[in-house]
Amino acid sequence: MQLDTLTLRVAFAIVAFTLALLFYFAAYRSTRSPYSAWWCVALTLFLAGSASYLFNGTPHQVWANPLGNCLLVAGAACVWAGARSLRASRPRSWQLAAGPAVVTVSSAFENPGVNIWAGGAVFLALMSLMLGLASRELWRLEPGYSRVRIPLAIAAAFFSAYYSCRLIVYLGEGPDGRIFVTYFGSAVTTLVTMVLLVVVSFSMAALSSEQQTRALRAVATQDGLTGLLNRAAFLDLASDELQRLRHTRALGSLILADLDHFKAVNDTYGHAAGDTALQSFAAACNGTVRSTDLVGRYGGEEFIFLLPGVSPDRAEAITKEINRHLRAVRGPDGSRMPTVSYGIAPIGHGPSGLDELIATADAALYEAKSQGRNRTVRGLPAP
Ligand code: GH3
Ligand code: MG
Ligand code: MG
Repeated sequence: MQLDTLTLRVAFAIVAFTLALLFYFAAYRSTRSPYSAWWCVALTLFLAGSASYLFNGTPHQVWANPLGNCLLVAGAACVWAGARSLRASRPRSWQLAAGPAVVTVSSAFENPGVNIWAGGAVFLALMSLMLGLASRELWRLEPGYSRVRIPLAIAAAFFSAYYSCRLIVYLGEGPDGRIFVTYFGSAVTTLVTMVLLVVVSFSMAALSSEQQTRALRAVATQDGLTGLLNRAAFLDLASDELQRLRHTRALGSLILADLDHFKAVNDTYGHAAGDTALQSFAAACNGTVRSTDLVGRYGGEEFIFLLPGVSPDRAEAITKEINRHLRAVRGPDGSRMPTVSYGIAPIGHGPSGLDELIATADAALYEAKSQGRNRTVRGLPAP
């Protein structure tokens, strides 16, 4: 069966156009992420590049053929930039522009008016290089980054290898050789590219929805003002953690914290100053506890901590450390941050349900307030 290159190219252009439109509306407009923008641009360049080759055999071939090479290499460079945007910064502009520039010049020097393979070797080498670089970026992402990391990396690697094989056979027997025409010619390549565009677009759309879900989950679990866990998320994670502690019979501490005379801060300096004080307290907490500890905003100016493996003694030292951080902070007008009262509930002795622990810590906090505030009181586990 002889595949008709012209028909395939028209089909390719239609598929690329449809994918670019779908991808733009379904993925890019909702995420606005750099990688989906790069993929939209890449699809458009592949579409335009492939369309340029439709002028082969006409008087326009002299400019359209080098342009086609240039656009396709630019598209591959965008694939690389997109893969890179998932992990690091975008490549420099000259790195993106170098490939298209080199292939345009080399095509222009090889008689593009009559030679449809003008600049062919450089074109094949650059396509292989760009897609190889894209694959490398995808492999270098953290393993847990996305379910589609491996399929995308394999697709890019396959493509890069395919262009390498094309280059080798092209250099070996030229564009009219039997093997080249049968396995690596324009018709087969167009077909393979079409399938891969669909696979990659599908994976990229999956990646977009994964990222959206992750972003939504972060919003749903975070307190908007302080960035700490919100109450519901804290309670959820804390009950899992408590279960784990109970299984391993490990110690731990639960702390409730309440800013002292906080209403007076609002009344004296305004609500915005109160918000800043809450954020400063959250920063002081983050600067003190470990990343494995749970810290949440329990409500208003009350905060809650679950510190696995931390004895009540150590928990008390941690509250002092938070206070030390907080004392170093000044408001915009030089005002001091409010003091804080803490109640500690030890975990590992007596009842250790989350509700009981919170009740114990709350009673200790109440005691700290009654003793004059700005102090830490340890709760006694209920008998
Ligand atoms: P105490 O030492 O007994 O804890 O006194 P307090 O003034 O801290 O306690 P009270 O419960 O009387 O007041 C808490 C105040 O916290 C009242 C409320 O307006 C303020 N507040 C709650 N949430 C926010 C917030 O998100 N931002 C600001 N600025 N204030 C808040
Ligand atoms: Mg309170
Ligand atoms: Mg208070």
